[in-house]
Amino acid sequence: KLIDLNRFLTQVIRTYGDAFKRTIQLEFSLAGNTFIQTDENKLKQLLFIFLDNARKYSDDVIRVTARAEKSEVYIRIEDRGMGIPEKDLPRVFDRFYRVDEARNRKTGGSGLGLSLAKEIADALGVEIRLESTEGVGTAASISIKIT
Ligand code: ATP
Repeated sequence: KLIDLNRFLTQVIRTYGDAFKRTIQLEFSLAGNTFIQTDENKLKQLLFIFLDNARKYSDDVIRVTARAEKSEVYIRIEDRGMGIPEKDLPRVFDRFYRVDEARNRKTGGSGLGLSLAKEIADALGVEIRLESTEGVGTAASISIKIT
C-alpha cells in the first residue's frame, strides 16, 4: 500500500505520545509529500518498538526525524537516555538479550523487542541501525528504499 509518510508519522507519533504522556518532537525534512510503498502495520510495529525503548530508557523528549533523499527515506528515533555500552551494542538484537539486569529491573521487558524489530525489518526489506553512546543517548534509524 502507498502511504503518505508525513501523515502516517504525524498520526503514529500523536497516538503514541498521548498514550504514554511523553513529548515526542517530530521533524521533517521531506520535499513536499513523500509516498512510500510498504506494509503500514508492520512499519507501525517497527516504530513502536523503537519508541518503546526510547521511552523506557530515557526520561527526556524523544525526537523523531524524517528525511528523504533521491532513492531512500530515513526515519530516526532519538533519545537522550542512558544509552548502551559499546560492548553490548552488537548483542542487543539477539533474542532475550538485555543490558545488565540492574538497570533494566524497573522497566521490565524480556529482551525480545529488538529481535522482533529485525524480523519485521527483514520482512519489509528495510534496513535498521542502532547507534548509542552510554550516558548520552541512542538513535535508531530505519532506511526505506523508494521504488
Ligand atoms: P522488550 O522485550 O519488552 O522489548 P527489552 O526492551 O529489554 O524488552 P529489546 O527491545 O530487545 O528488549 O532491547 C534489548 C536491550 O537493549 C534492552 O534491555 C536495553 O538494555 C537495551 N536498549 C534498547 N534500546 C535502548 C535505548 N533506546 N536506550 C538504552 N538501552 C536500550
